[in-house]
Amino acid sequence: MTDRYAVIGHPISHSKSPQIHAAFAQATGQDLSYTAIEAPLDGFAATVQAFRHEGGRGANVTLPFKMQACELATHPSEAARLAGAANALKFEGERVYAENFDGIGLVNDIQRNLGHALQGKRVLLLGAGGATRGALLPIAQQGPAVLAVVNRTADKAHALGRDFAAHAMLQTGGYDDLEGETFDVVINATSAGLAGEALPLPAGLFASGALAYDMVYGKGLTPFLRQAQAAGVTALADGVGMLVEQAAEAFLWWRGVRPATREVIARLSVPLV
Ligand code: NAP
Repeated sequence: MTDRYAVIGHPISHSKSPQIHAAFAQATGQDLSYTAIEAPLDGFAATVQAFRHEGGRGANVTLPFKMQACELATHPSEAARLAGAANALKFEGERVYAENFDGIGLVNDIQRNLGHALQGKRVLLLGAGGATRGALLPIAQQGPAVLAVVNRTADKAHALGRDFAAHAMLQTGGYDDLEGETFDVVINATSAGLAGEALPLPAGLFASGALAYDMVYGKGLTPFLRQAQAAGVTALADGVGMLVEQAAEAFLWWRGVRPATREVIARLSVPLV
């Protein structure tokens, strides 16, 4: 029988996940269906419940339900608990397992696909929302020399520093604190670019040979990537690889088979111009 999976969010029509998982299933010969489900804003848990009763085996979860997904799980992973958010669920009998694969997807994209090792490097995350929360543990596990988080609301960055204190020594602050600092990998995990807004980045932020990575995808050169390019950065990437890599981790978790990602990333990529 065909196994059922889905991505649940609100809105959901923009989601690339059905396309990505259909490509993975075809390439690996797995018999599964993967659909997009729009849950009412006040009806996430009921939507998950209905999907489970219809035989759903697992689901991806996207905005704005990632925190609720972690809360409803009976068995959240350490990564999901630390992030306070989950982007993948697996249903086994009465058990609901939750994972957060956004961070490992980001790390795999940066290291494997883009060829920028994180070990011993100075890494900066811009933003202190859910995406940064999900990214911190997997990045810290790579052993960067410095892992810094700055946020428009500096207190949220400081709070992250406290929450992750047992796992990583974070440098935290606001954009003013970046003055005089230089980083090898700068990751934009804010949603500023979606509103066309640039970030207050000081001159000299990017080290020679730095990677500028914007988690936003499908928008071409975002304001952040433009800022990096103007500062002389040539290694620019958007978040399409992160999206596909987190999907590959979920596929492996559900099906026990790791799909290849390169072709799918190429198919979904938008030129950075
Ligand atoms: P979120 O929890 O809503 O956090 C948004 C963050 O952006 C906050 O730190 C916020 O700062 C900051 N921000 C918003 N507008 C800003 C501005 N004008 N100037 C400076 N900072 C601003 O969102 P999220 O879930 O972390 O997602 C962040 C981005 O990552 C989104 O664009 C999302 O699409 C992307 N993302 C991509 C993937 C992928 O697979 N590629 C996965 C997850 C997320 P304050 O705290 O000061 O408000």
